[in-house]
Amino acid sequence: MTVNVDTQTQDFSWLSLPAAQQPEWPDSEALRKVLADLASYPPLVFAGECDQLRARLAAVARGEAFLLQGGDCAEAFDAVSADHIRNKLKTLLQMAVVLTYAASVPVVKVGRIAGQYSKPRSKSTETRDGVTLPVYRGDSVNGFDFTPESRIPDPERLKRMYHASASTLNLVRAFTTGGYADLRQVHAWNQDFVRNSPSGQRYERLAKEIDNALAFMHACGIDPEEFRTVEFYASHEALVLDYETALTRTDSRTGNLYDVSGHMVWIGERTRQLDHAHIEFASRIRNPLGVKLGPTTTVDEALTLIDRLDPDREPGRLSFITRMGAGKIRDLLPNLVEKVTASGAQVAWICDPMHGNTFEASSGHKTRRFDDVLDEVKGFFEVHRALGTHPGGIHVELTGDDVTECVGGGDEVFVDDLHTRYETACDPRLNRSQSLDLAFLVAEMYRG
Ligand code: PEP
Ligand code: MN
Repeated sequence: MTVNVDTQTQDFSWLSLPAAQQPEWPDSEALRKVLADLASYPPLVFAGECDQLRARLAAVARGEAFLLQGGDCAEAFDAVSADHIRNKLKTLLQMAVVLTYAASVPVVKVGRIAGQYSKPRSKSTETRDGVTLPVYRGDSVNGFDFTPESRIPDPERLKRMYHASASTLNLVRAFTTGGYADLRQVHAWNQDFVRNSPSGQRYERLAKEIDNALAFMHACGIDPEEFRTVEFYASHEALVLDYETALTRTDSRTGNLYDVSGHMVWIGERTRQLDHAHIEFASRIRNPLGVKLGPTTTVDEALTLIDRLDPDREPGRLSFITRMGAGKIRDLLPNLVEKVTASGAQVAWICDPMHGNTFEASSGHKTRRFDDVLDEVKGFFEVHRALGTHPGGIHVELTGDDVTECVGGGDEVFVDDLHTRYETACDPRLNRSQSLDLAFLVAEMYRG
């Protein structure tokens, strides 16, 4: 499949290359109109913010900061509400405080948010009770309902994605700069969690230490602006190239191209073919980039990705988000990290402990075990410790709501509970309590 945008006059070199996982829009004239409209809309982010995130990620690549990247597997239009957005943000900020204290380095906070509406799929159709329909590809493309009408790709959805992203980002910016995210407030939420969670006792000491540190600073009269506002960035998988291309603009300051649909974008495991459109697209934009690396990744592929996406070996430009699986990471990651490091590249190494650990429960739900997620992060730390490289961060699928999608955790979800609040439109997410558990446990790992 090729990409359909023809509204641009610039040399968008990726448009002539094959692209995997693209929707088959039924009406090219409707698509053309939508893309022309999108191309006329204002950017969702400012190129200077992307540069700032690149600088923050450079600190991650140098071992001076830690990345916390998280959010839904798939955002959904009907979940664009104040409650959902606030709960997710609150959870990420709570995790970040714990990690900041334990790691004693800045934690770069990046949501899988305000643009994560498109999903790559392993199969293009889905069969239920003898009926076969096109697979759901995310709210940006078609509907989740299992009906022929809902599964027809509708380009108007690309405009809804833009508007949903804009209103989400607007609320995130309001919360993070408007006082809601005050460090002392976030800490108070963590104290609530420690008090009320079954596993909370285990974290009491760490929470108490943070409390003491805050009380000490308060006593000294320290009340910096950094306590009241939070730097928070938005990221998503750059999957539907019609949309990403329409949002790719020339920065008037520098003449460089930026994908202004989000601060950071990543290329997924299924679309990172070296001679295809997604990698060419990524190579042409100045946003900080992620690439997912699954268990079949070869050293040659990793090195070629660096040549293509980070030819200047610029720290912060490229993050490798590894998703090997708990059972494989200790075997597969060392060679990759070793060879990439030997090549002189300074990528940030990020652990996605979700996508290598998905399985189908006896109930039929797609799920993940909290212990596998934790074990992959443990393996990630072990590998980097052994090599003397920096475990740069974690990339997780989570929600701030009390869903029952992953099994395990301190407030344990059992296989038999999965049906009670299984709400994800795609992959299973850690719920609020499992996410905070993970943050405290990673904090313990960080302290060794
Ligand atoms: C995802 O992040 O939701 C995803 C599909 O990941 P991957 O490309 O690593 O499979
Ligand atoms: Mn996913």
